[in-house]
Amino acid sequence: MQEVLRSLGLKEINEGCSTGQNWFSNGEVIESFSPVDGKLIGKIKTATKADYLKVVSTASDAFKFWREIPAPKRGEYVRQFGDKLRAKKAGLGKLVSYEMGKSYQEGLGEVQEMIDICDFAVGLSRQLYGLQLHSERPQHRMMEQWHPLGIVGIISAFNFPVAVWAWNSSLAWICGDVCIWKPSEKTPLCSVACQNIWNEVAKENNLPEGISSLVNGNYVVGQLLTADTHVPLISATGSTQMGKIVGATVAERFGRSILELGGNNAIIITENADLDNTLIGAVFGAIGTAGQRCTTTRRLIIHENIYDKAKDQLVKAYAQLKIGDPLNEANHVGPLIDKDAVKKYLNSLESVISEGGKIIVPGGVLEGKGFESGCYVKPAIAEAKNDMAIVQHETFAPILYIMKYKTLDEAIALQNGVPQGLSSAIMTLNMREAELFLSAAGSDCGIANVNIGTSGAEIGGAFGGEKETGGGRESGSDAWKAYMRRQTNTLNWGSKASLAQGIKFDLS
Ligand code: NAD
Repeated sequence: MQEVLRSLGLKEINEGCSTGQNWFSNGEVIESFSPVDGKLIGKIKTATKADYLKVVSTASDAFKFWREIPAPKRGEYVRQFGDKLRAKKAGLGKLVSYEMGKSYQEGLGEVQEMIDICDFAVGLSRQLYGLQLHSERPQHRMMEQWHPLGIVGIISAFNFPVAVWAWNSSLAWICGDVCIWKPSEKTPLCSVACQNIWNEVAKENNLPEGISSLVNGNYVVGQLLTADTHVPLISATGSTQMGKIVGATVAERFGRSILELGGNNAIIITENADLDNTLIGAVFGAIGTAGQRCTTTRRLIIHENIYDKAKDQLVKAYAQLKIGDPLNEANHVGPLIDKDAVKKYLNSLESVISEGGKIIVPGGVLEGKGFESGCYVKPAIAEAKNDMAIVQHETFAPILYIMKYKTLDEAIALQNGVPQGLSSAIMTLNMREAELFLSAAGSDCGIANVNIGTSGAEIGGAFGGEKETGGGRESGSDAWKAYMRRQTNTLNWGSKASLAQGIKFDLS
């Protein structure tokens, strides 16, 4: 691991703030321990308010430069950034896996998402289109164009320690914005590694400080960003609890926010499902990243006629799961992020029982050789009712709730009957069932899939959810519009002044 850390420019003690080539920080030191083996990976100095103010001032200056660069040229810098990510994919993927605890394959997948969104952003840098509209006045032209917003504040969660930043930053950069990133205090080394990669691009192209900046620290540093009127857009990924505070703070100052918050995702398994395919989607969805994805499958809503068969298959599949070091490709399930997460997992299992649920695959914490970090837990399954308080709540751990339904309308009501609205799926080979699920009377989530589980998404589509998931959209499709401001222009190229709505105003 030491070699990987060195190749990513990481030291034993790292400065936590950067505006580019400049690294500094005067706040307290946080330590990053790996949930894989409990070992200290490195230390990071956090930002003080003075450090933060320096970063904002540098970013404000950089915006004046960056907004003048033609968008395709900005795209060229993002292309170079993507190329560097390609070259460093193995190392960065390993660091993601070791600091966050997801499997090495998923760590590589996360870096691949960064590369993919860079490619997407490069193409988009030539397509930031506006509309041309017919004016109601003669010899007038009306159009819409999109301008950059300024500084985009990116607050990210621990479970996607690098990709979420890239989803936001690569789009924001080609749009002409500059970014300040406040990463999770649980995965700070990943952020330093990413900033180092951008810094190489900036240095090689003689770009000024402040196009990409980093401020490490906990929620206190996050609050500096969210309350700051110099930051017109905050893109915040994390818990619904955090989103409620961030959303209110940003709205209070008339800023904009993209909120990507908790999910409580379900798969409906109908009588017409291809059960073999269903099982792969459901089990990966429930136990991948040890249940720590916003899109993790938390509920299975199964038709009563196939309930027992599906349940048996699930129990058998869970018996085959291998739990252990996520860097070892033979293992399916790695650790939770920390002991606090383990406590929440255990409390949730207790609540399942006290609220009347029935555990059918028991959970528990693993001990002994290979599990010294104390963060490895067994994926559990419980039969539960949708209206139980614990089922309505997102526990960020591998606990899967299963329940029966009779009619598809009932199943859709169950699927929609939670406060969150991120990802959803139906498993069916029946066209009418699939189309109903995708219709306005179907899933109320931001993502609705057919014959694919809830977990994971392609960067080409807009990503985000409804209700308590926050309503934000990131990544593909036209999500770029959130990073820009729309301006309507009307231009009189004739020789007469004329007012809209036919209003006459004669000065003679
Ligand atoms: P968290 O809410 O504890 O922290 C997320 C980030 O917000 C961190 O950087 C944290 O320092 C910061 N933060 C916390 N309180 C803040 C405040 N008051 N002001 C400003 N910043 C603040 O979340 P976590 O435990 O890191 O991540 C897990 C959660 O993230 C889950 O709920 C998961 O569903 C959600 N998530 C959602 C998506 C999505 O796209 N919808 C993606 C990944 C994770």
